[in-house]
Amino acid sequence: MVGGVNYPFWERNITWIAWLELTLGPSPVYVSPMTTSCIFCRIVGGEVPAEVVAREPEVVAFLDVQPLADGHVLIVPRAHVAAVEELEPAAAAALFQTVLRLAGPVREALGAAGTTIGINNGAATGQTIPHVHVHIVPRWPDDGAGSIHTIFPRRTRRPLGEVAAAIRRVVG
Ligand code: 5GP
Ligand code: ZN
Repeated sequence: MVGGVNYPFWERNITWIAWLELTLGPSPVYVSPMTTSCIFCRIVGGEVPAEVVAREPEVVAFLDVQPLADGHVLIVPRAHVAAVEELEPAAAAALFQTVLRLAGPVREALGAAGTTIGINNGAATGQTIPHVHVHIVPRWPDDGAGSIHTIFPRRTRRPLGEVAAAIRRVVG
């Protein structure tokens, strides 16, 4: 029991497990939670400090260490998953439920007018930490930031109908 929360064994013993793996090699009897190389896993496990604002059974939320605005929150699944597409449905649901739960309070706590909520999904999009995380960034009128539309130069080449048909074929 740490801070009133029951952590599973591997979260309470991350340093010990990492040492054991470095010394003996990866254990054949369990799957490593990859906590040694992933900074967000280490924050989830309590190994690296962070300004945590919510702890839930499947999700942890903490302040971004280099905030884009006051109140910039990151919400992460406890389980290490790199991309949104790899999330288990229950983990995805828990992640978005926490986004819902925090969006209002973050806005209220900072006296913000709105929030930009986003995910960089994949290295090509600028994702620097390969552990899924949702950004909630408080926004104010004339805060100097743009909307999601401002990050794209709109270099489209294909007609909407053709693109929609291509996606529908894969969605099935
Ligand atoms: P990305 O570019 O991957 O979508 O965003 C990663 C975010 O994680 C960045 O905004 C960055 O400031 C934040 N970040 C990176 N390392 C740490 C850390 O050690 N602690 C915290 N709290 N945030 C981090
Ligand atoms: Zn991780």
